[in-house]
Amino acid sequence: MSFSALHLHPTLLTTLDQLGYDKPTQIQKQSIPLILKGRDVVAAAQTGTGKTAAFCLPLLQNLTKGKRGPANTVRCLILAPTRELAAQIGDSVRTYSKGLNLRSQTVYGGVQLHPQINGLKRGADVLVATPGRLMDLVQQGAIHFSHLEFLVLDEADRMLDLGFEKSLNELLTLIPKQRQTLMFSATYSDHIRQLAKLWLSDPTEVAVSKSNQVANTVRHQLYPVDKARKAELLAELLERQHWEQALIFARTKRGADEVTEILLSQGFSVAAIHGDKSQPVRLSTLEKFKSGKLAYLIATDIAARGLDIQSLPVVINLDLPHVAEDYIHRIGRTGRAGQEGRAVSLVCADEFESLQAIEVLLKARINRREIPGFEPDHRVPDSHPRSQKKSVKPNKANKTKQPIEKPDVTEGPGLRSSPFAKLNSSKKK
Ligand code: AMP
Repeated sequence: MSFSALHLHPTLLTTLDQLGYDKPTQIQKQSIPLILKGRDVVAAAQTGTGKTAAFCLPLLQNLTKGKRGPANTVRCLILAPTRELAAQIGDSVRTYSKGLNLRSQTVYGGVQLHPQINGLKRGADVLVATPGRLMDLVQQGAIHFSHLEFLVLDEADRMLDLGFEKSLNELLTLIPKQRQTLMFSATYSDHIRQLAKLWLSDPTEVAVSKSNQVANTVRHQLYPVDKARKAELLAELLERQHWEQALIFARTKRGADEVTEILLSQGFSVAAIHGDKSQPVRLSTLEKFKSGKLAYLIATDIAARGLDIQSLPVVINLDLPHVAEDYIHRIGRTGRAGQEGRAVSLVCADEFESLQAIEVLLKARINRREIPGFEPDHRVPDSHPRSQKKSVKPNKANKTKQPIEKPDVTEGPGLRSSPFAKLNSSKKK
């Protein structure tokens, strides 16, 4: 199927052609016709599925049918949980709306309020915002919703995780009831379904992959290690594996900074992004990583959420996430578009409960392998003990309980037991 079969505006078709988008992705095929018809849509789709274009393209087309409102009014509001995601959606809106004579603006916290207030005086066809900054601007009287026709809640599950439910409820009392609302969420919990019923009007459900499912091109690997030796093992893996780039997740800002310092002192090309870094620093670090100037990016879940980083060979969990679903969000950055990806986790005994929850969610046991020289003193218990395994009869269905992948670390001589011995090799950038 081509984009023209979706009855998109000729200017949009030209833009898509220039971007080299040959055909719509699954989520685009399903959502674009519904949104063009004016339906409310609730969609389960992860980052990397093309979901941004799935809502932007038809909304921009719908917006061409009307006129921009007076000062401080907004016709289409797109809400995103994080600054990075808002900036990314803002870029997409600008790209896709080329030649359509639509004005868009992006607002988020961490940068000055006044330029945003000034920009809004001109009115906007599309406003991309994070909920916190949006509410600040509403309180300043910089935004009026009288002309609002379209509302998009992107990464709705993450907005709830970040505690924005109250702000969203407040916002919904301020905007016209007569509107088209779209809600996108990577995971599709009962809570999300309930809110979709409340916030949307008779929505059509769209799902491109079963919720809570990971791309089957991703190979998972777990390395048990003591907590105190995680940074050493990480350095060793980066040194030995030939990964051009890696996105590395740390659970805390402090943890991210500490590991970054260690890797920097070993000569690795690495930087961290998290909530304590200023917005300009976060964006420029991300740009360096995207352009390949930076080899390794260490991030917390919040900072990395929704980042459109393509074709990453590997995602590394320096720490497992507290919330099992975040494992899926994290590794959504690898194995995209049918490419092979790797999800590597360094797990210590304290993380056993998180590991168990992730394996329940994945419905599989992640293959584990101890690295010679890094065998943990505190063992990580097996989340599928032998006794349980024996009770499961060997039939076809049990195949899904098998390890997700075979070991992916170089076999043979094994990794060095003294990880800091040769850290200044040519692999470092
Ligand atoms: P998203 O899931 O919205 O984060 O999009 C992931 C990436 O896919 C973005 O870099 C888009 O530019 C790209 N993309 C979206 N739709 C298409 C398409 N139909 N063909 C090729 N690339 C696309």
